Amino acid sequence: MHYISTRGGISPISFKDAVMMGLARDGGLLLPEVLPTVDPKSLRRWQSYSFQQLASEIFRLFITDIAVDQLEKIITRSYATFSHPEITPLVKKGDIFILELFHGPTLAFKDVALQFLGNVFEHILEETGSKMNIIGATSGDTGSAAIYGVRGKERINIFILHPHKRVSPIQELQMTTVIDPNVFNLAIKGTFDDAQAIVKAIFNDIPFKDKYHLGAVNSINWARILAQIVYYVYAWFKVTAETGEESIDFSVPTGNFGDIFAGYIARNILPQGAIRKLILATNENNLLTRFVTRGDYSVSEVVATSSPSMDIQVASNFERYLYYLYDCDTDRTKRDFEGFSQCGKLRFDDNLLRTIQQDFASKSVTEPETLGTIRTFYSEHDYLLDPHTAVGVNAARACASADVPVVCLATAHPAKFGAAVTQAIGKSPETPPELKGLENKESRCEVLDPDVKTVQDYIAHRALL
Ligand SMILES: *Cc1c(COP(=O)(O)O)cnc(C)c1O
Repeated sequence: MHYISTRGGISPISFKDAVMMGLARDGGLLLPEVLPTVDPKSLRRWQSYSFQQLASEIFRLFITDIAVDQLEKIITRSYATFSHPEITPLVKKGDIFILELFHGPTLAFKDVALQFLGNVFEHILEETGSKMNIIGATSGDTGSAAIYGVRGKERINIFILHPHKRVSPIQELQMTTVIDPNVFNLAIKGTFDDAQAIVKAIFNDIPFKDKYHLGAVNSINWARILAQIVYYVYAWFKVTAETGEESIDFSVPTGNFGDIFAGYIARNILPQGAIRKLILATNENNLLTRFVTRGDYSVSEVVATSSPSMDIQVASNFERYLYYLYDCDTDRTKRDFEGFSQCGKLRFDDNLLRTIQQDFASKSVTEPETLGTIRTFYSEHDYLLDPHTAVGVNAARACASADVPVVCLATAHPAKFGAAVTQAIGKSPETPPELKGLENKESRCEVLDPDVKTVQDYIAHRALL
């Protein structure tokens, strides 16, 4: 299996090269040259597989340059850090299935992909005898999941920038209490956008990037998408076995279009109709909902909500979907995205809109609706939703068909977003063991001015060479 760019500007590369490249060199995103499909015989065999066994089968369709025994070792190591034996268990609450994706070390779904990515990086670096320095900016969830993905790894140093005093206290502690010598937390005196801009500037400094073997972990890395496909297929097996239905809907709380794009790939490798629709759940940042309901993809201002990991306007994985919507036409994808970066908008005609609406339904959920959903779900089912998951459940209720079961992805543990939960139900959620006593642990963090040179100097002195 080889990988190509949505903009057609690179010759096909292997999986390992795609993982190390992250963003394609022509500015596009990497995708498999062809999408594999799962034949009915394999499907019958996979029915009773564990999460890890299923991961191995699915990864093998997309990875042909890592030996199967090596791949299985990577999978075992990646999911041994999860606290639930099923990794991503499915629970039924009333008429809705909740797919709990928050049993990893940082209690959010990003662990499913970043534990795997960290181990894939380690495997490749050992093979080639090289080292890398990961740099990233975070507004909260990605940073801790990335840090937990590579902590203690010999050939990797990680530098994560967060806006000083502007992430939640729990999110900050989840990052700064990891004191492994290869982990560097940098609190930037500024906003998330300042931190993000510094990281971009550093990656654009090509001599610096090459000298220090910089690597990225953001959600455009193909390995992250790949890891997320597994739980869609896993949940599909569970629900079809339990309900006898062959066709189901998924509701996905969405920001960067990464998680839901993994659902789109799952939908395309499974038999037709297995996943009827993907329900694209957004908060008040409704760019993607406007896209699905009206064919209008135009950027506006970001507003702050109680589901901050979805407070995003430009969805970095969207280009991947567009490539498929345009029947793999790389010229058209390139032209549209270059245009988009100039004027911040794209329009889709009725013909395309029909295709889009065959794949997706969507709702933008307001703040009162989000908190209301947490409250009523708790009183009806004695089950706490975090605000991101509540957005998904609300959209699922609005968009699902009565004829097919619906699975909502639970992207974070409610205790991670305790303030919103407390506001909704009048008391705070129970603290899980992973978050207990964090404030008493030793922590390490460097506060720096929002200046590219300052951050580059800091990295240059501590980078692995
Ligand atoms: C990152 C995140 C999301 C959004 O996922 P995307 O892949 O960016 O769409 C939703 N919920 C939580 C808790 C997250 O951390």
